[in-house]
Amino acid sequence: MMARTNVLKVVNPATGAVVRELTPDTAASIGAKYRAARAFQPVWAATPLATRRRAIASFRDRLAAEASSLAALLTGETGKPISQARREISAVRERIDFFLAKIAGALRPEVVLEDEASGLTEMITHEPLGVVANISAWNYPYFVGGNVFVPALLAGNTVLYKPSEFASLTGLAIARLLHASGVPGDAFIPLIGGGPAGECLLEHPVDAVFFTGSYRTGRRIAESVGGRLAKVNLELGGKDPVYVCDDAPVARTAESVADGAFYNTGQSCCSVERIYVHERIFEEFVGEFVEVVRGFRVGDPADDSTYIGPLARPAQVRVLEMQVRDARNKGARVLLGGRRVPRKPNYFQPTVLVDVSHDMQVMREESFGPVIGLMPVRNDAHAVELMNDTEFGLTAGVYTQDRGRAEAILSDVRSGSAYWNCCDRVSPRLPWSGVGHSGTGVTLSTYGIQAFTRPRGWHLRGA
Ligand code: NAD
Repeated sequence: MMARTNVLKVVNPATGAVVRELTPDTAASIGAKYRAARAFQPVWAATPLATRRRAIASFRDRLAAEASSLAALLTGETGKPISQARREISAVRERIDFFLAKIAGALRPEVVLEDEASGLTEMITHEPLGVVANISAWNYPYFVGGNVFVPALLAGNTVLYKPSEFASLTGLAIARLLHASGVPGDAFIPLIGGGPAGECLLEHPVDAVFFTGSYRTGRRIAESVGGRLAKVNLELGGKDPVYVCDDAPVARTAESVADGAFYNTGQSCCSVERIYVHERIFEEFVGEFVEVVRGFRVGDPADDSTYIGPLARPAQVRVLEMQVRDARNKGARVLLGGRRVPRKPNYFQPTVLVDVSHDMQVMREESFGPVIGLMPVRNDAHAVELMNDTEFGLTAGVYTQDRGRAEAILSDVRSGSAYWNCCDRVSPRLPWSGVGHSGTGVTLSTYGIQAFTRPRGWHLRGA
């Protein structure tokens, strides 16, 4: 049973100021919301697809119309640099367009056998799962939430949406826009609160749990609902590697990889978290890389020219301090940064480490901040060995002029996504998934639409 907290303070991580105070959901209100979502689900599923599509298309248009105030709201509660907040809100519309274009095909019944002689027809229909619990992360609330609630709603599910407590205002704005767009209040229901609210939601017999967050929480959720055999989809963290081969153009690659490591202040699930460089170009690459990172502007996230803002969660600053201390104690050299920004408690300096090894936390545990380690490797096989030396498996990238070489290396690396000459990239057209501690299940692509349906087999014999 959840503890009752009377107030959820929304704090601006750049300034420490309280932006708003919200009343979190209670066990009673969560129960009532669950019952409403359950009762309304058959009504929503019976609503014509054209009506559901119209509502989601209108939601996309409203996101565009309110983009600048929504971006300011997101920046105010997460510290995401404003230009990156705007980019997220604009890019999520591309994802929505993809779902709108593909939904009819994904839901269309499929006749797989029509045998005139026996009069037998076999058909597959795609039924909604029912009530979907969507427990979400704060780092890209539009992306990670939208990957779930948009296809879930289009497919006829009702959604209980618990945004992260670090992105509650954005969660409420999303609910307001969906409702104004024609998604009924009982089809999409937001829940406000932190871990206890999520835990309480999962005490109810939802049909599916779509979770985005850390490995630790994901594992706990999988264990808590495992006995009920509800569908569980987990999109978790990563320790994503990039390998720079000896034929890669150094300057261009350094720029691309540094952006992949530091964009969103390093708080992306698919941020570059480990860099391996062929020993022949290691020194030159490190030199270029440090210069690129030195050029990143640290500052007020509300300022258009800021590239690195504060960390969204104060606790992560301590994790970064610990990782850097551990690395230093074990022999790492800090080429740049390495500490909190003076007089700005939630900011950490962009930090570049060399002489790192896999004995160090910084090369094993998710940093989720502006800290990166670079290691030289002897050859491609050595790179593959180190890239695979992790419990995570979200993305992996290789930079080389030779596509065949990249594909050969990436074929030997365990990861949900593979990148050649790019990194930190998500496409609505491709499946998004992880292996190992990076999760189970899939979102995005047509697989990520079917994830919200249950295929049903029909055996039909004419008289
Ligand atoms: P988190 O695990 O702390 O929280 C995620 C959500 O779970 C929040 O809404 C939180 O309130 C809720 N929660 C916490 N305890 C719970 C419990 N016991 N029961 C139910 N719900 C509970 O993660 P976070 O800090 O919000 O997000 C950062 C993590 O998410 C990073 O590890 C990052 O890599 C990962 N992430 C993964 C992807 C992906 O697509 N794979 C995308 C974004 C973020």
